[in-house]
Amino acid sequence: MTKTKIDLGIPQSDLVSCVSCGLCLPHCPTYRVTQEESASPRGRIALMKAAADTGVVDEEFVGFMDACIQCRGCETACPAGVQFGSMMETTREALATQTAYQPWWRRLGYQALGWPRILTFGSKILAVLQRFKVVPKRLGLPKIPLTQKRLVASGNDVFLFTGCIMDAWMRETHQAVQRVIEATGNGVQFPDRGAACCGALHVHAGLAEDARRLAAKTMSAFPGKAPILVDSAGCGAQLKDYGHLLKTQEAKDFSARVLDVHEWLAEHLDELPPAPKGGVPVAVQDPCHLRHVQRSHKSVYEVLGRYTEAVTLDDEGLCCGAGGAYSAFHPDTAAEVRDRKVASIERSGAAIVASANPGCLLHLRSAGLDVRHPLEIIDSIMTKDV
Ligand code: SF4
Ligand code: SF4
Repeated sequence: MTKTKIDLGIPQSDLVSCVSCGLCLPHCPTYRVTQEESASPRGRIALMKAAADTGVVDEEFVGFMDACIQCRGCETACPAGVQFGSMMETTREALATQTAYQPWWRRLGYQALGWPRILTFGSKILAVLQRFKVVPKRLGLPKIPLTQKRLVASGNDVFLFTGCIMDAWMRETHQAVQRVIEATGNGVQFPDRGAACCGALHVHAGLAEDARRLAAKTMSAFPGKAPILVDSAGCGAQLKDYGHLLKTQEAKDFSARVLDVHEWLAEHLDELPPAPKGGVPVAVQDPCHLRHVQRSHKSVYEVLGRYTEAVTLDDEGLCCGAGGAYSAFHPDTAAEVRDRKVASIERSGAAIVASANPGCLLHLRSAGLDVRHPLEIIDSIMTKDV
């Protein structure tokens, strides 16, 4: 097996912070599926420590690191406060900069996310190919729109972050979110094209320099002091992490303005229209980046609970397997992880599922479930479509 020299760059204090108690194991989706110690948080930390001690990695090491969904369910379960997410991001950055971990074609794909014109053009081609039924169903892509309506600002009380894939494929969700925000009496503005992509997928892939470049561009697209609301849990977690990523006061100030849109709405519940009687049951899927990273998933229940019967799943927030680009690169594991989530949803008895993250939403939809953004459900209720 080929060995490659590496300087992992993880502080020794982090590497020895795991006390090997194993309490994180039931919360790790890849361990639950494989039952392999090296596919668990504890096993991965042991591998990182060995790589830091020896200064070499091999394909097996790369495989176990790449198979981590970066859901961070292990972090919220860990009694010792192990910062697993940061250790994994540092490991991936070392792999991406010092080994052949990220091939050129993947880097090219990530680059395209930061160029809205390329993304729009590519999406249109994909949309046409879908109409000719030549895009394989197993890719699990949503029906990509051929045309989209422009987003029109209605004031300057708050910004709504629009992002890359979500804006190219799911702009109707942004429009529903805008209508719900406007129902509180506040006006919505949108960033310019500088905020093309938050860089979350780049950080996951170890491409931290690309992520820093995108972060700097994104920050410049939100002048003033208005709150920056985000309707994608993964993007919100990334925007809130700019202070840590860029380590500047400007980035820290920017991150302090960022709120998941449900966090903001939970503070404006009294300004929303009254709820109709007898809400339908809706199973709430907690995106990992809302529950384990932003730790603000309860606001979804508060907001959704005003209009529906928001049903809590019985799996303690176990990951659904989407993981940003994970389901594209590890389709079999992602599908096995998703099976557990689908079983939990089925046990809930709800016919509609709410997910505040587009990646999770699409991944669960491709299993045949009726999954919608929580604010799309509320928008439908307000317009009496549900
Ligand atoms: S981040 Fe998720 S997949 Fe990775 S080790 Fe932790 S619990 Fe397991
Ligand atoms: S719960 Fe924390 S301390 Fe215990 S094995 Fe997992 S990472 Fe290590």
